[in-house]
Amino acid sequence: MSRVYNFSAGPAVLPEEVLREVQQEMLDYRGSGQSVMEMSHRSRVFDEIIKEAEADLRELMAIPENYKVLFLQGGASLQFAMIPMNLMKNRVADYIVTGQWAKKAWQEAQKYGKAVKIASSEDQTFSYIPDCSDLPIDDDADYVYICQNNTIYGTAFKKLPDTKGKLLVADISSCFLSEPVDVSKYGILYGGVQKNVGPAGMVIAIVREDLITDDVLEGTPTMMKYKTHADADSLYNTPNCWSIYVCGKVFKWLKQMGGLEAMRERNVKKAAVLYDFLDESRMFRGTVRKEDRSLMNVPFVTGDKELDARFVKEAEAAGFINLKGHRSVGGMRASIYNAMPMEGVEKLAAFMKKFEEENR
Ligand SMILES: *Cc1c(COP(=O)(O)O)cnc(C)c1O
Repeated sequence: MSRVYNFSAGPAVLPEEVLREVQQEMLDYRGSGQSVMEMSHRSRVFDEIIKEAEADLRELMAIPENYKVLFLQGGASLQFAMIPMNLMKNRVADYIVTGQWAKKAWQEAQKYGKAVKIASSEDQTFSYIPDCSDLPIDDDADYVYICQNNTIYGTAFKKLPDTKGKLLVADISSCFLSEPVDVSKYGILYGGVQKNVGPAGMVIAIVREDLITDDVLEGTPTMMKYKTHADADSLYNTPNCWSIYVCGKVFKWLKQMGGLEAMRERNVKKAAVLYDFLDESRMFRGTVRKEDRSLMNVPFVTGDKELDARFVKEAEAAGFINLKGHRSVGGMRASIYNAMPMEGVEKLAAFMKKFEEENR
């Protein structure tokens, strides 16, 4: 067996320890005589799995008691609609558009009310985070929306926007559990788990309890109401049992690694290996304003499309896969989520250095 270094933006690398445990429990989960894929979501054995996953996530993120943790389907993209359906009481919301995902969320919200783009970095291909210290927040805005880490462009909010007292809603898909967050600063935090947490097919929404009501937009489907899922402890219908199970294992792994403060330290060091190399290199350069660089997604270019393509091809042959940048930006992107070991990043930097020397 040989495993590659997988720099995919998502679905992405998972901790090898977790995969091995899952493999061991595949045919017979802890004496139940069945795999987690085969068991009833209403069984006692699964009840323990989902409860323990939630408890571990609460501990890791220090989620206050007045927030619900919901395991939902439809990916992060369904939240683009679910958020306005549940929160747009005045039919006004403010969006900070820092990339494709924020833009999609903003466009979706326009179906339900007045979604106002109050800041954007599209003028420079989303390569920076706009100044959010004094934004023209609407008086009757129901919430202010951000995408905290921009997976495609490699930027991240280092400081949350001043929402002037309005509710903050954040898509944290690609920075989920990469460092500590103060949950109490948000009304809703949500993320698709396939970037930094677990297998595809699930989104975790952390929602402040007072926002979970029957007062939703007229015509909102039952499945799109947070209250439906909150009242049923995420078991209104059959959830993604498999993803909940594997995410639960990743939560345990993160606890064993020392929790989110330890992960931040590790992620800062890991990202520095690549960014330091990019800053020194005469062939490769990062595409993002320095102070806005993401710890998770590192885009870079040579400035020559043919050279970029050759690099991606040779890297793949050397066991570094999925380094091609998003189709909308080109170049390269290394996603270095929690489960990417330091060794993978060091070896990639060494490979880039060698490529540079050989192609000067
Ligand atoms: C990948 C991604 C999405 C879309 O996730 P799906 O689960 O495929 O809907 C949304 N937001 C961000 C920040 C992402 O990285």
